[in-house]
Amino acid sequence: MIEISGIKKSYKMGDNVVDALRDVTLTIEDGDFVAIMGPSGSGKSTLMHILGLLDVPTSGSYKLHGREVSKLSEDELAVLRRDEIGFIFQQFNLLPRMPAWQNVSLPLLYSEKKFDFDKAKVLLDKVGLGSRNDHKPNELSGGQQQRVAIARSLINNPKIIFADEPTGNLDSKSEKEIMAILKDLNAQGITVVIVTHEDEIGEQANRLIRMRDGEIQSDERRVPLKAAESHKSEQSLHAKFHFGEVLEHFHQGWKTLAANKVRSGLSMLGILIGVAAVVTMLALGHGAQDAIEKQLSSMGSNLLILRAGNVRVAGVAQESGVRIRITTDDVAALKSQIPSIKDIVPTVQGRGQVTYLNKNWNTTVMGVSTAFVQVRNSEPVLGRFFSEQENQRRALVAVIGKTVSRELFGEKSPVGETIKINKVNFNVIGLLPEKGAQGPNDQDDRIVVPVQTAMFRLFGKNYVDSVDVEVGNKEDIDTTQDSLKEVLNKRHRVPISQQDDAFQIFNMADLQAAISSSGQTMSMLLSSIAAISLLVGGIGIMNIMLVSVTERTREIGLRKAIGGRKIDILMQFLAESVVVSVIGGLLGISLAWGVTTILSKTTGWPMAIALDSVALSFFFSAFIGIVFGLYPAKKASELHPIEALRYE
Ligand code: ADP
Ligand code: MG
Repeated sequence: MIEISGIKKSYKMGDNVVDALRDVTLTIEDGDFVAIMGPSGSGKSTLMHILGLLDVPTSGSYKLHGREVSKLSEDELAVLRRDEIGFIFQQFNLLPRMPAWQNVSLPLLYSEKKFDFDKAKVLLDKVGLGSRNDHKPNELSGGQQQRVAIARSLINNPKIIFADEPTGNLDSKSEKEIMAILKDLNAQGITVVIVTHEDEIGEQANRLIRMRDGEIQSDERRVPLKAAESHKSEQSLHAKFHFGEVLEHFHQGWKTLAANKVRSGLSMLGILIGVAAVVTMLALGHGAQDAIEKQLSSMGSNLLILRAGNVRVAGVAQESGVRIRITTDDVAALKSQIPSIKDIVPTVQGRGQVTYLNKNWNTTVMGVSTAFVQVRNSEPVLGRFFSEQENQRRALVAVIGKTVSRELFGEKSPVGETIKINKVNFNVIGLLPEKGAQGPNDQDDRIVVPVQTAMFRLFGKNYVDSVDVEVGNKEDIDTTQDSLKEVLNKRHRVPISQQDDAFQIFNMADLQAAISSSGQTMSMLLSSIAAISLLVGGIGIMNIMLVSVTERTREIGLRKAIGGRKIDILMQFLAESVVVSVIGGLLGISLAWGVTTILSKTTGWPMAIALDSVALSFFFSAFIGIVFGLYPAKKASELHPIEALRYE
């Protein structure tokens, strides 16, 4: 039973106040069929919206089945709209993208948390549209659309149906059909309240109420009311949140996006590029670091590299002093005086123009001692390394790297051939093992010759450029470094003030630590760039979602009118933005995969997409979707049903 008393509704229009309802008091019994008539602007729709819980009066009381409506929360009202009331609009208000059966099922999304084809089909049959289940609204005539809307209003078995000029937009044949359906529903015990300005229709009702200027002018009972059992609702108005609904929202969100491909694509672009950038950069960083670490560890962490510092020591004759140089004698002294040294390799390095027949190649030439084989893990894969005797007699023998061999000899074995290095004939005696091209630095583009040969027959110098020192035990590294400096400072009579700088020692372990810490800094830098680009992507999504909310204001109004609660609308829009950003994220990950694959093929850099960076960017993009979708979704959920429905 509906009981309203003293209902007023006024609209403020600037300085004017329009009183749409002045003082309406009315009781409608269960099971009645009431027609409301009156001239345009007399307040009929305003009254219907208040009765249908789509709008609230300015003052007055409204009791629906004994419940005072003004005391109910917004969500409780939504549950009442969903379960007790069916509202039929003059403009049908169907959702254009959904087929008829889904439009009919829509209220079920909010009550049973799913669409139900079978239930919808039963109702469509009932209104004579059983064969049009899959038609979208624009494939149906006006009368057919209104019948779909009626079926929708019936899906939750309402006790009351409000119809605001349901036939106002229809031809007279459809009008008759719609009226027949409504009368049939009334005969089944549903209370029907209908607004019309057709006298013919008004005369079919049990009771005819005429309105004028926001007041009831006359109230006439034409057919006595059949005794209907009075209905008192004790139902709880609290609906629990249900996970199935979220899945349906994701499904619907996906379909909405698929319907707007270009826009969805563009709004995804920000996230896509952001995620692709993050994953690629992290892969690049990881790859580079892996490469460097591999290269370093192949040299062994017990390795020290010794060089003369850029220091001059006062000589006997020269005023300006002479530069300190490390000689082969120094190397021999170090080896004999410092027992913790396992192996020591004096090294001379320079460029060499190499020729074989008509082939030419410019490469690095290294002069080393025989211990190179152990210290740098370089047992030749073909032929042999040179001996200490060959070193002492400055023999013209060379062991060459893979790259040099390929450039000069192609697939042919180089061993036994004669090449010219800087115009000096050398006999190739071996092929170095492949070390791989790590970054731009090709470890195989080199020739190794005896250090004595390099010093005296190639580069014409009597000192070495650097010395590799391999320490037997890790624990001895620090003391060995001190001993190296001590012995050399003594031999070169370096003044105390310059002893610290006279020789430089690179410690591979330190170098590795430094590189990995710089790698971490790099990662942090990349991550912050990534965060910024994802932020920009998120703002893009928010932008599009805001547009989408504005564009679909009427849809939101309708969803609320048929029982969608705040949380339902919030979830719907949130699901949409999460779908956009997650798809964007996934596309970004695949783009990154493509780019790194191509990059590592073309540059030869090892690049690995780390699983954690993929997982991270996936969840981050979902997170972005939630954070940036929240504002538009909240905005949508807070729209007032009737205002949203009126939105143009
Ligand atoms: P009816 O349905 O009987 O034609 P309405 O209930 O729609 O009449 O309108 C009653 C009065 O209230 C009219 O004068 C109309 O201009 C005014 N009115 C209705 N809705 C609004 C609104 N949202 N803002 C301002 N005035 C309104
Ligand atoms: Mg109206």
